Amino acid sequence: MQLILLAISLAGLTSAMDIEKRYSKSSSEMYYEAVNDDLARYTVLALGCAAAAYYIWHLSFRFSAHLRRLSSFSDDRQRYFVSAHDTFSWVKEHIIYAALFRTRHNQEMQLSSAINMGTLPSRFHAFLVTGIVAMNVALCCVTTPYGSTEKTLAGVVRNRTGTMATVNLIPLIIMAGRNNPLIAMLHVPFDTWNLLHRWLGRIVVLEALAHVFAWAIPKGQEKGWKVVAMALGGSSFLFTGLVAAAAFAALLVHSPSPIRHAFYETFLHLHFAIAAVSMGFLWVHLNGLAAQTYLLAAIILWALERTTRLLVILYRNCGRKSTTATIEAMPGDAMRITLRVARPWSFRPGQHIYLYIPSVGWWTSHPFSVGWSDTEDNMSDEKSLPLTKSDLLSAPQKETISLLVRRRTGMTDKLFQRAANSMGTPLTVRAFAEGPYGNIHTMDSYGTVMLFAGGVGITHHVPFVRHLVAGFADGTVAARRVTLVWIIQSPEHLEWIRPWMTKILAMDRRREVLRIMLFVTRPRNTKEIQSPSATVQMFPGRPNIDTLIGMEVENQIGAMGVLVCGNGGLSDDVRKVCRRRQAHSNLDYVEESFSW
Ligand SMILES: Cc1cc2nc3c(=O)[nH]c(=O)nc-3n(C[C@H](O)[C@H](O)[C@H](O)COP(=O)(O)OP(=O)(O)OC[C@H]3O[C@@H](n4cnc5c(N)ncnc54)[C@H](O)[C@@H]3O)c2cc1C
Repeated sequence: MQLILLAISLAGLTSAMDIEKRYSKSSSEMYYEAVNDDLARYTVLALGCAAAAYYIWHLSFRFSAHLRRLSSFSDDRQRYFVSAHDTFSWVKEHIIYAALFRTRHNQEMQLSSAINMGTLPSRFHAFLVTGIVAMNVALCCVTTPYGSTEKTLAGVVRNRTGTMATVNLIPLIIMAGRNNPLIAMLHVPFDTWNLLHRWLGRIVVLEALAHVFAWAIPKGQEKGWKVVAMALGGSSFLFTGLVAAAAFAALLVHSPSPIRHAFYETFLHLHFAIAAVSMGFLWVHLNGLAAQTYLLAAIILWALERTTRLLVILYRNCGRKSTTATIEAMPGDAMRITLRVARPWSFRPGQHIYLYIPSVGWWTSHPFSVGWSDTEDNMSDEKSLPLTKSDLLSAPQKETISLLVRRRTGMTDKLFQRAANSMGTPLTVRAFAEGPYGNIHTMDSYGTVMLFAGGVGITHHVPFVRHLVAGFADGTVAARRVTLVWIIQSPEHLEWIRPWMTKILAMDRRREVLRIMLFVTRPRNTKEIQSPSATVQMFPGRPNIDTLIGMEVENQIGAMGVLVCGNGGLSDDVRKVCRRRQAHSNLDYVEESFSW
């Protein structure tokens, strides 16, 4: 009897739902639907306006940096640019460069060597996240009829949160993409977008859950929870909505930092699959509703991003020749990888590529900074040796891209083992390179440049050094003092970049502009620590960052740019010193963390 009653009420409830959904909208429902639609558009508009405002702010800085660079061509001392601007230096010290609380930002919080809890956002990032959270809370709450009946209020909250969750998928998808056009436009790095993606994702999940509960709780209280359960099973509209919300919740549950960092590839594949499932079910759930348009926009953006990646991979790697990777295992668990690419492509300092090595990592891709790029003569056998001058001129040249890779525990570990086991001959395998990505920072307008690198972080800095030394000789950059500080554990690690450094040290007018300071933290004996020249010096132990930056500030020419790439502790130390120096010196701080 109970079951019959349940079935009758269920049939009534589900058909009523469908009728309610499609035909019987009261004037107040139509009003709130219009309001929801407006608010959804305001969300996109507000984010667009924020991006536009940032673009204008950033454009003014780029313009002034460009003027600074131009003026340096006729002014070697660049005195005008040495002193700090009061307001900007305050903003940089207390907001843009500041860690959230004291000094810790990039140093990971590790419970053990395997459990990485991630990093704390910077103060500026925290402002951005707070802004997004506040905007969503405000838009979910405004115009809701708090004085009306519980049922009416729940209905408005349900539709509002559902609409907001859907419209937020548009920025959520944009932020997740490697090809996010805002990276190049706003010069905001991918790791910042990734952070915003994570926070917006959390908001979407909370909105989706609020949407479900705002429907289920009043219904459960009115008709009983069994009826609610049966209704969910009996209506495809309700069921697909529930599955989509559950899939969103699953995305949240499997994404915390320790899981992401410990099982990155598994996380990525699951994330992709669950996101696809949630969107599929959401599509059916929203059939015929206005919010389906937002979902469509999100799906199109996702498809466009994926298609762009595929086209880039095909274009870069497939032609008459294909891309190969030659891997040399190096001391200190590192590898030098030389890619011979199918088509030539040019790189700017600070750019990275995604590397696919199917024989080791299947279809997975890993980001690596480009350490060096060159052209080499493609004459590997005797038959192709040049006989005449025209042979020499028309000889095919092969573009090479070199990477320096540290062995970790996944794909890089397998690759290292294969290279180490290849009996002294470098291992050559088929590879695919996707890119270039990044390059949002230029050091061309700084009279004084300091580059701090820890371990393989040097690979990020070598192209900057090469570019600045060449630019100094050609008179195309402002740099007059370039100091490279590299912290390594053993002198053996110098081998990692020996061929590149040999070329840099032989560059025209290098001695006038470049100084290299090597700090060896674990030398086996003091004899290993020998400075080859006055411009290339070697020291035992760790550097005193404050002293090094202080020395450069005392002799500062023009504005000073400090770039760091190393472990989180090094970045935090350099950031702390750079913040302290803001009041007295025009000093910009930039970091690359090799992580997100
Ligand atoms: C912009 C950028 C540039 C980088 N450049 C270099 C470089 O020049 N040299 C270098 O040695 N390392 C670089 N890295 C780090 C490098 O990508 C990882 O060490 C590498 O992907 C680890 O692969 P694995 O399978 O051995 O990782 P695991 O041992 O499984 O994981 C080690 C760490 O790498 C992270 N990781 C794993 N796979 C990826 C991935 N596909 N994308 C992003 N992070 C991942 C994990 O979250 C984890 O924190 C860079 C990272 C970024 C984000």
